[in-house]
Amino acid sequence: MPIPFSPPSITQKEIDAVTAVLKSGWITTGPKTKEFESRLASYCGAESALCLSSATAGMELVLRLFDIGPGDEVITSPYTFAATANVILHTGATPVFADIQDGDFNLDPRKVEPLINTRTKAVIPVDFAGLPCDYQAFERLASEKQALFNPKKGSLQEKLGRILILSDAAHSFGSVYQGEKTGIHADFTVFSFHAVKNLTTAEGGAVLFNSAADLPAAELYKELRLLSLHGQSKDALAKFQAGNWFYTIENAGYKHNMTDIAAALGLAQLDRYESEILPARKKIFHQYWNCLKNLEQGMLPQEASEWGLTNYHLFPLRLKDPSRRNALISFLAKQEISANVHFIPVNAHPYYEKLGFKAQDTPRAYENFLREISLPIYPGLTEEQIDFVCEKITQFFKT
Ligand SMILES: *Cc1c(COP(=O)(O)O)cnc(C)c1O
Repeated sequence: MPIPFSPPSITQKEIDAVTAVLKSGWITTGPKTKEFESRLASYCGAESALCLSSATAGMELVLRLFDIGPGDEVITSPYTFAATANVILHTGATPVFADIQDGDFNLDPRKVEPLINTRTKAVIPVDFAGLPCDYQAFERLASEKQALFNPKKGSLQEKLGRILILSDAAHSFGSVYQGEKTGIHADFTVFSFHAVKNLTTAEGGAVLFNSAADLPAAELYKELRLLSLHGQSKDALAKFQAGNWFYTIENAGYKHNMTDIAAALGLAQLDRYESEILPARKKIFHQYWNCLKNLEQGMLPQEASEWGLTNYHLFPLRLKDPSRRNALISFLAKQEISANVHFIPVNAHPYYEKLGFKAQDTPRAYENFLREISLPIYPGLTEEQIDFVCEKITQFFKT
């Protein structure tokens, strides 16, 4: 039987929840989206959450909200999906890649530090595979480098008064940082609910945040919501109340709202997250660990770091000999086992090379890409299937 990489975990609960919305007479942004927002905020212990069509949309809206654009620099990790860097380009700002550290393979604050200058407006740390970045280290950097910060007059940048820390937490919904759920440790945290992520709405994302400095969360929510839907003063549901037709356009906002169909799916997933989804992933991660721990040719992923605990989003195995990685993927594919690679560094892609970036600029990210293979991990993967994957990996190295 084929073993896919990461099919979504959909039960009758999700099917019933989506069906109820379809039958309700209201399918786009409305009561389910609001409910999902307040459930996400309370799960993470955040003051506010805004649901959107993707994590990409969330990161871009936050950069726009802070007026980040041409002439500005945003520092991020190359060891991520292109979305993280593409949104920086969309705003007209310049991405600057700092290398990752060993251990959790997250953005290294020591590599970020020398890259900070008067043009730096934001840092986007990326939580790889579910292990959170060291957010305290990034917050410390932002305050240590405050003297270099040169904000645009009259913008939210100026109110914040230091570099913005925006967490790309596409992988890390449900992870733990310093004993608390992720979602509150950067200025803004963006989750992805894309189909392969550990909590899904098919496509979707959310931005979580607290009040910061002089910026109350309610105000930030209002501004982000305006930016996410054509700057309309009223949301679609309010506009459709009888007699409530009048609205104004406050800015040239985007079209990034979440539908109630997606939110209903997300609510059903959230109901199952702590009781089913997270424990299922944890169990698989441990089984891989136990059956691969004696594999001489491999290096196994961490479950915890000094400051964080994974949500078991990926099982990123690394091969001591990177030259065998592609052959192993092909060998597994012949057994109908789908593996994946996280990540082709952003600065190794042709478009970014054309812009002048080089994979060699961040050698650790490139090195790790070459030796990495992500094994299937999803609720529903059976113990027999995990044993089969491990057996085939072991067999490959005997050939
Ligand atoms: C999936 C992913 C994204 C993009 O998420 P979308 O919801 O598809 O926009 C961004 N960053 C990382 C690290 C991802 O894995």
